[in-house]
Amino acid sequence: MQKKLFKKIDTYKPVVIDLQTHMIACPAVSPHSGGLGENAKAAYLLSVLKAMKFDEVSVINVKDSKAKDGVRPNIVAKYYGKDRKKTLWVMAHMDVVPPGDLSLWKTDPFKAVVKGDKIYGRGSEDNQQGLVSGLLAVKAMMDLGVRPPCNYALLLNADEEIGSTYGIVPLLKKHGKLFGKEDAFLVPDGGNPQGSMVEIAEKNMLWLKFTVSGKQTHSSTPHSGNNAHRAGAHLVVKLGDLYKKFNKKDALFAPESTSTFEPTKKEANVPNVNTIPGTDVFYLDCRVLPCYTNEAVLAEIAKINKTIEKQFKVKVKVEKLMGESSKPTDKNALIVKLTQAAAKAVYKNNPRALGVGGGTVGAYLRNAGYPVVVFSKLDDMAHQPNEYSSIKNTLGDAKVFTLVALNFK
Ligand SMILES: [Zn+2]
Repeated sequence: MQKKLFKKIDTYKPVVIDLQTHMIACPAVSPHSGGLGENAKAAYLLSVLKAMKFDEVSVINVKDSKAKDGVRPNIVAKYYGKDRKKTLWVMAHMDVVPPGDLSLWKTDPFKAVVKGDKIYGRGSEDNQQGLVSGLLAVKAMMDLGVRPPCNYALLLNADEEIGSTYGIVPLLKKHGKLFGKEDAFLVPDGGNPQGSMVEIAEKNMLWLKFTVSGKQTHSSTPHSGNNAHRAGAHLVVKLGDLYKKFNKKDALFAPESTSTFEPTKKEANVPNVNTIPGTDVFYLDCRVLPCYTNEAVLAEIAKINKTIEKQFKVKVKVEKLMGESSKPTDKNALIVKLTQAAAKAVYKNNPRALGVGGGTVGAYLRNAGYPVVVFSKLDDMAHQPNEYSSIKNTLGDAKVFTLVALNFK
């Protein structure tokens, strides 16, 4: 059966091109990034899914006053298995990021261009490659009249690129009945060119804004003020101590196997050279291993701030811009083992379960208690100009998902 399904998938190259061409022509950029949203793309996909042999197709609209029709669509398409109590979900997102500087594109970002194995266009890889693979896996089963042991479902989300406020977050909160206790998720929205990375965990994200307040004055008389920039610079250096305090390693996370604490953005202070700045603002991006909590990091930062406040007689204010914690998926979970085995069978490689620096939708699902694997074979073109997807990888991943579906029970 596996051989027949793989052979069928090998005939789907024209289907890949057709699906990609239609989707690339719908610029599904978030209305919060000045775009039109996912509605046109969702309407096209609904027509495709309804023409297939799904047992259930439905749309969950999430209200968004900024969107053209006032809603952001999320699509569920389910193909029943022999046991209907348990579902393998393949989750992909419909939204795309803006094309960015158009002069860097060699082709129109919203018109598909096929060159050999590559299909160029915004969204072709992120996340349409995974979406198409997920769709072709079930198409092959339908075309050959195969029912998997458990349900196979596509979950096509809105709003992944800027926080999932109108996507998976409200779906988990308000539509909890959608998902069964024993369900598992495959998220084809990250991976490497070898198809050897099975992502099962991510670090906790913690984004902080630091505002150091001193007193502005003329730079010829610094003692009449208090230089916030100098205090801020010392604070940045002192925050490097976080690396010593939170120094555990976790081999699951490669190549960055420790927590990281990096000063990133710096706001402009005074516009001229001869003024002592009274305010200094910078940002810290922390990626914390799951063995630590964000609260422990914040407590340590509060201590560091106190020493700087005392030494430089300034005030330090910390604001949390983002703080997401994520439980890892067990590396022995069925979905992990099945994905590793399937990738190995298709790509003849040695897939490893790994953790990443953070920031995928996997975190929401894992925190809700579901096992999640993020997997694709891709060239990492996401968000880049001249984004493309590989037809070969699309078909290869469709085979991987089919194999997982056949063994998920
Ligand atoms: Zn993506």
